[in-house]
Amino acid sequence: MDINYQQILTEIFAETKSLKGRGKVANYIPALAGVDPNRYGIAIQTLNGETFQVGDAMTPFSIQSISKVFTLAWVFREVGEKLWSRVGREPSGTAFNSLIQLETENGIPRNPFVNAGAMVVTDFLVSCSKSPLTDILDFVRTLSNNPNINFNETVAESERETGFRNAALINLMKSFGNIENDVNAVLDVYFHQCSLMMNSLDLARAFLFLANCGVNPWNNERILTASQAKRVKALMQVCGLYDDSGEFAFTVGLPGKSGVGGGIVAVIPNLLSICVWSPELNQHGTSLIGMKALELFTTKTVISIF
Ligand code: GLN
Repeated sequence: MDINYQQILTEIFAETKSLKGRGKVANYIPALAGVDPNRYGIAIQTLNGETFQVGDAMTPFSIQSISKVFTLAWVFREVGEKLWSRVGREPSGTAFNSLIQLETENGIPRNPFVNAGAMVVTDFLVSCSKSPLTDILDFVRTLSNNPNINFNETVAESERETGFRNAALINLMKSFGNIENDVNAVLDVYFHQCSLMMNSLDLARAFLFLANCGVNPWNNERILTASQAKRVKALMQVCGLYDDSGEFAFTVGLPGKSGVGGGIVAVIPNLLSICVWSPELNQHGTSLIGMKALELFTTKTVISIF
């Protein structure tokens, strides 16, 4: 049976609007605090080339932690299994910026999506690349098939000025010998990757290589082996939403990645990728409407990986 995605998006949009006002826009990064809480968009990109969208799907927003999937894919391709000697593959059950486990676990972060783990991945990137910012920007532009994507220097600078927890996490890891490069050099790249501005359609497109067994559908370039793509999706499933990952698996049932800018991207292997953006967050830093919209999406389409 053919699924009418446009009709489903329109229904979801109407059914979730009443949740506006229930969450809170992230304000611990001052430059994010001014985002209009009423923005709301959803975009779908299918592997057979169709796109569907509703609301503010073409408005760029700060992708924040969604960028951790891009750096992970770049570094995984470059260094392979070596990655796992310095970062784990288990859910943390803690907030994305928690320091608690890091000391008792000797500076090895639980997974590549908590901030500490993402900074280890970025440290690999800095070690492997002569110009990490250019490389990651080119990578994201190619994956999304949009050459106009850029960093937001105001957001990056705002996070650098206030990123005391991230500085604490990276310095603690440095003390355990798990950061190779200068901590400020790694933080600078990390804050820039988080500041990337993309719209919902860009993000749905940029994650399509994961639905496509690791091959970028825009130019047929293999980014990851099928097995590596499987692993990245598995990590998204178990830790892509930090201490909300169990709830996301339970209610949505897809591998996903959230960011405190209010975006969530989810992948349906061999079929499509979907991105929802709504800036108001729940207490775990997940877009409140985004999570509900994706729950409705898998319920209405009756497609999930479970
Ligand atoms: N840049 C943010 C931080 O490091 C990313 C957090 C997120 O999106 N979950 O705190």
